Amino acid sequence: MAPAGREFRLYRYTGLLCRHDLLVRVDRPAYSNADQGAEDAADDFADSAAAHLREWWARRLLRRDCTGEHRSELLGTMDGDPPTDGALDGAGLRHCRVWVAHHADPRWIVVGEAASEAEFWTAVADDDRSVPERPAAAHDVYLLTVEDGRGDLTDA
Ligand SMILES: [Zn+2]
Repeated sequence: MAPAGREFRLYRYTGLLCRHDLLVRVDRPAYSNADQGAEDAADDFADSAAAHLREWWARRLLRRDCTGEHRSELLGTMDGDPPTDGALDGAGLRHCRVWVAHHADPRWIVVGEAASEAEFWTAVADDDRSVPERPAAAHDVYLLTVEDGRGDLTDA
């Protein structure tokens, strides 16, 4: 049985003279490891939620701030919760600074909110996940989550 969990996906939108990073938090339902169809359905649930959030953000918030054309790419995915406590667990619809380190397979990343890179690596070392490669890079991201339909756009 694979338990239900969260995924964080970091996207980069690049324009002629600009770039914008979007961090999306989605849920993924539990499934039986013996059932490939259920695993595919769980993946598709997270994919669909991420696509929905990205489309809304690009159409509404990005276009409001920056009118140019952008192309987007997925910089990496984190399976599970961040090693750092706190803010990334809560509401989105806000800008924040995160630290990002890639694993040897660069599609997989570790993302955390920390005051410094040293604080980020301390949190990674205290966590029971596999350790990504150094260094970590700071990214100023817009955080958007599946729960933000109950949020507040006042400061978005
Ligand atoms: Zn732009």
